Amino acid sequence: MPDLAVLKGAAVRLSTRARLSFAIAVGVILEALVSVPGDWHDSYPGVAVAAGLLVAAVAGALGGIWSGLAVAAAGWTLHFFFVADEALRALIGLPAWLLVGALAGWLATSRQRTAQQRRLVSEELDAVRDSAAEAIVGIDLDGTIVSWSAGAETIYGYDSEEAVGQPISLLVPDEDEESMRPAAAAQLGERLDVPSTVHRHKDGDDLSVALTVAPIPNGAGAVVITRDIGEPQRAEALQRESEAKYRALTEHLPTITYVHPLGERGTPIYVSPQVDAVLGYSAEDWLAKSNLFFQLVHQDDRERVSAEIAAAATGARALRCEYRMLSRDGRIVWVHDQAVTVRDDDGRPLYVQGYLLDVSERRHAGEERERLLTAERAAAADALDRQRKLDVLARAGEILGSSPNYQVALRRVADLAVREFADWCLVDLLDDDGTATRLAAAHAGPGMPPGDVPGPAPEHEILEVARGGRPDLSESRMCVPLRARGRTLGALTLLTRSPGRSYGADDLAAAQDLAGMTAFAIDNARLAHQVEESADAARVLTYVADGVVLVDQTGTIRLWNPAAEAISGLTRDEVLGRGAADAIAGWKGFADRIPVGTAAEPVQPETFPLETVRGERWISISGVDFFGGIVYAFRDVTDARRLEELKADFVATASHELRTPLAAVYGAAQTLRRHDFALDEAGRNRFVSLIVDESERLNRIVNEILLANQLDAGRLDLVDEPFDAGDLLQRVVESAREHGPPGIRFETIVSESTPPVAADRDRVRQVLVNLVENAIKYSPDGGLIEVGVQGAEGVVCFHVRDEGLGIPADEQARIFEKFYRLDPEMTRGIGGTGLGLYICSELLERMDGRIWVESQEGKGSTFSFELPAAEAIAARPAVGEPRDLSDALRPSTPGPFPDAS
Ligand code: ADP
Repeated sequence: MPDLAVLKGAAVRLSTRARLSFAIAVGVILEALVSVPGDWHDSYPGVAVAAGLLVAAVAGALGGIWSGLAVAAAGWTLHFFFVADEALRALIGLPAWLLVGALAGWLATSRQRTAQQRRLVSEELDAVRDSAAEAIVGIDLDGTIVSWSAGAETIYGYDSEEAVGQPISLLVPDEDEESMRPAAAAQLGERLDVPSTVHRHKDGDDLSVALTVAPIPNGAGAVVITRDIGEPQRAEALQRESEAKYRALTEHLPTITYVHPLGERGTPIYVSPQVDAVLGYSAEDWLAKSNLFFQLVHQDDRERVSAEIAAAATGARALRCEYRMLSRDGRIVWVHDQAVTVRDDDGRPLYVQGYLLDVSERRHAGEERERLLTAERAAAADALDRQRKLDVLARAGEILGSSPNYQVALRRVADLAVREFADWCLVDLLDDDGTATRLAAAHAGPGMPPGDVPGPAPEHEILEVARGGRPDLSESRMCVPLRARGRTLGALTLLTRSPGRSYGADDLAAAQDLAGMTAFAIDNARLAHQVEESADAARVLTYVADGVVLVDQTGTIRLWNPAAEAISGLTRDEVLGRGAADAIAGWKGFADRIPVGTAAEPVQPETFPLETVRGERWISISGVDFFGGIVYAFRDVTDARRLEELKADFVATASHELRTPLAAVYGAAQTLRRHDFALDEAGRNRFVSLIVDESERLNRIVNEILLANQLDAGRLDLVDEPFDAGDLLQRVVESAREHGPPGIRFETIVSESTPPVAADRDRVRQVLVNLVENAIKYSPDGGLIEVGVQGAEGVVCFHVRDEGLGIPADEQARIFEKFYRLDPEMTRGIGGTGLGLYICSELLERMDGRIWVESQEGKGSTFSFELPAAEAIAARPAVGEPRDLSDALRPSTPGPFPDAS
């Protein structure tokens, strides 16, 4: 790109040249016009010369010297040839022509140059004024501002438009003498220099300025130049302030700052006062005592620190290191030292400036952190190990908890322990006799390091642990007791042969945990076994028919089984935990007499009466003594006892019943033999009849006894064929009427619709005969005996009603018992075996019938029995084989009344 100044110069030159050419061309033309031949030349020759000279002068004025000369020369030439007609005198005018042209050109050129110079000066002034930092203000003689520089704008804040036209006093705070001084100086044309005065900024602030008033030479005014001298003062104040801040900063920083000459660390020129607090030596000590620094550096670090400082001094690297220093009170203080070499603007080193920072806490914290990290790593490893052990324990717990057979579980746990803890794991359990059995012996397998192989029986030292209950720990063996519920059950032993493994307290704790868990499982399994056994015993006690009672050594009832509840009528809740004498009525009376034996030598029970809610019951009771008290076993023998009593009564009754007819037969037979000759026919017949009757009575009693016996033994066959109940009834009543006592009247009620009965006809007749016989027997005062039968809903119902003695209500249930008689002593003289109603009841039961009584004492009784009707039997499906009727005891059970059929 071409230089702009060059182009501008070229343009100026071009225009000068063009103006020159233009002036010459126009001048020459004008000269030609002036010189054009004409009459007026001759008339006014002077005008032509004057006009020619004027054109030359104008050309010179416009185009410069050369233009003036050229046009003058051209004009003179034209004048010479056309006006002067080449007269010689015209030659004389040539210098005048040239002089006029040249002079006009010179004058014009010099005027132009002067004007140009002035313009240049003016422009330079403007440039100076606009670029100067000072305020340059032009004023006229009245002191009015006529020009306003950029610097003035900056210093005073007014722009040019605001300031121009205003009095110079605008810049001065008060309109006093001072404000008049610039105007006065301008008027006097004197220079005025004021080194320092106060002016005012547009916003009212005071300005410290140096003032110069330079009058303009032509007396048009003056230039006022002011310079803001407040700025350096402020800079100086700022510097002082920043220095103070810097000092305050360095003295309040938590660091010790220092300055020392190059390469002279031992002799500082400044040390901040913090050094006292950190190392116990004051700043003055440091400045006063040469080499104090190196004396205080820890001797172990001294060499290193010296080397670092020396390296920093050569500029190889900045000083940056940490080391120990000794404080005045003997503490070791860790410091971080960092320093730089301060250089001037040319990079020349001036001095070294640095700081020391007390990093003891950080170092200690670092050391502490390192220690904590180490501890944490150890703890993590420890936790991992514990976790592994816990996992093993958890796994062992799972095995012990899930296996129903604790011996199998123990072997599996031993295998587990061997995998994790040991090369051998032995489990030995104590037996009841104090010896021990090795239940499990697991080992690590073929890769195991060599060593002694444990035997099949527990070793002596293991036995000691198992018996003593105290663990035994050595580097290669841990033996811990298996303890549960305060008892030692055996020992768990772990052996290691691996060179890198030795047992410590931690391992022992884990082994004890494992042993505890194992012992618990063993104990649990044993308890479960015992509980099972106890449960069996409890079940036996629950279902056994004998009452079982445990009375402890304090006499308190501890066990009371359901049979005891049933026999005594006392519930468990009523008696358990109470004293036996208190809980059981009558206990005191016989407790001492209960025979008590031992398990090895049991005793025969004794029978005692016991008062119960059901009345007096007879119990047969004996006890077995054991360490916890006495176990009594008893049973209710009331019924058996009653039967015994009945039997005793029966024997008495039966012997009486047998003796009476026997005595009669014997007497009649004796009489017949002795007095046969003296008796007539009728007399003999009477005795023979008596013998027959009493023999029949004997026969009946014996038959009853035999039949009862057969019924008890279940050896009685029955015939099951339909028969007419009314017919049977009529025959029985007819026979009774025939043989019955005189005071008895009979009545029969046979319902028309009575269906045939399906039963053994002879046995039904036997029942009916028995009931009619009883009705007669127990109506000693005579009366009506009503015998009836009727059908009802598949059954046939018989009844025998009398008006005799009747039966008390509370005895009615018992009269069907074997041997039971209301009046065993026969106070009313009515004999009997007590077997009749028993036989009736048993026979009817066997024929699917039943018997009952309604009676009122003193007013008579109604015995009723019912049997299935024949059609009801036919309608029922047959069950089992038909009964064999062939051997019905027809010959052996003849009734007292011969069958009418
Ligand atoms: P016994 O041979 O004594 O008559 P039973 O078994 O026939 O034996 O009768 C039992 C008891 O029932 C009798 O001892 C008697 O006291 C009572 N008894 C039976 N039948 C009657 C009756 N019709 N009226 C009053 N008491 C009767």
